Amino acid sequence: MLKAIVLAWLLLFIGDFLSTFLYHIPEHVFGSLHLKTHHSGNKDFRHYAVLALNINVLLDGVLGAIPYIIVGVFLWQFSPSGIICGLILGQLHVWWRHTTALGWQTPKLANSLCQFLFITTPERHWLHHEKTSVGYGDIFTVFEKPAKAWLSWLRLLRINSQRI
Ligand SMILES: [Zn+2]
Ligand SMILES: [Zn+2]
Repeated sequence: MLKAIVLAWLLLFIGDFLSTFLYHIPEHVFGSLHLKTHHSGNKDFRHYAVLALNINVLLDGVLGAIPYIIVGVFLWQFSPSGIICGLILGQLHVWWRHTTALGWQTPKLANSLCQFLFITTPERHWLHHEKTSVGYGDIFTVFEKPAKAWLSWLRLLRINSQRI
């Protein structure tokens, strides 16, 4: 049981790390798909929670989820049930972190618990929807600072490569 919990946590932590640094941030700097699908204003919950049957929305969701699946393949041997739980929890967190679009508010107790465990709340994730320079780490808040550094570095790289 403990092993499954640890493996589920590892899957989400490493998955979030890879997804943030290898997909989410590079997409913000060099791409346009994520910006168009995830940060276009006045969309509804179904759209943000990747429940909309729109090819671009689905593609953005799948690309963001690939790192979790790769990590899951590597960690599968240690605890298949932990990996399945981790993937389900990850999907539930995708839906939950977009409930701000439904007008929901996180209860105080859940908020404190998330703060204690460094988990991104819907309110915090919504800041990212409104302002693309903040609120990184889709699941874990600890990725915010290194994510910002990575974002600035990649932006600099883009500017420099345009000069050449
Ligand atoms: Zn979002
Ligand atoms: Zn984003």
